[in-house]
Amino acid sequence: MPELPEVETIRKGLEKKVRGKRVNKVIIRSEKAIKAPSSPDEFVKKIEGRKLSEIKRKGKYLILELDCKDSLIIHLKMTGRLIYSSEGEELSYARVIFIFPDKTQLNFTDMRGFGGLWLVPDEEFSNIPLLKSMGPEPLENDFTLARFRGLLKGKKGKIKSLLMEQTFIAGVGNIYSQEALFLSGIHPERNASMLIDREVESLYNNLLAVLREALSYGGSSIDAYVDLNGKKGSYESHLRVYGRQKKNCPRCGAVIRKIKVSGRGTCFCPVCQK
Ligand SMILES: [Zn+2]
Repeated sequence: MPELPEVETIRKGLEKKVRGKRVNKVIIRSEKAIKAPSSPDEFVKKIEGRKLSEIKRKGKYLILELDCKDSLIIHLKMTGRLIYSSEGEELSYARVIFIFPDKTQLNFTDMRGFGGLWLVPDEEFSNIPLLKSMGPEPLENDFTLARFRGLLKGKKGKIKSLLMEQTFIAGVGNIYSQEALFLSGIHPERNASMLIDREVESLYNNLLAVLREALSYGGSSIDAYVDLNGKKGSYESHLRVYGRQKKNCPRCGAVIRKIKVSGRGTCFCPVCQK
């Protein structure tokens, strides 16, 4: 699933290509992709003729504000993609298409169909899973080490599972939680409440560093992720532990192990991570 660096790469692409454009026409190929309002006709009617005024992101959600009281919220989930193309281009698994006056279009494609689009009044995110209770954005200035320490206070459970909780920190998932823990020498199953000050600081610094680094490479194309132009991210060849089970640790050479943490496959170095 795309995480912060991937969704942010798409957001930047949208800002460049579609911000300020008016939506001439909306074509729905799969009504299942429309999560709100309950009537797809209403979805179309409310968007057609409107301009995309701002492109924002909250965690793994994209928020396209319209020049009215509504916002279009998009979550890509496992295989959702947003691809910008010329008008009339037929893409595989196209579910919703937004056509602009300049003969271009924005395609929401989704092979497995878990992703979704919501059209809701601005800031009224209560009927969208997780959006209202989303934790802080790790790359924003107010996410300081002191704040991270505060968030960890009283938290029990495995540190890797906690990092992936969207109500704890926004946008971190299975890839970047593993990478940050590896860089910090922390075992993914460590109890969050048992981390010492030095480890908390190291985890904070490495989490931010790995997210920034991945963003600079346009994200990692592990599953279906591509950017707005259909181009893959190039960070996956830089991943240190994710998906590298049975290979050698880039730091000490030991064999990387894979275990399940809260049901999710997790790689770590049994020597470097304690
Ligand atoms: Zn190692």
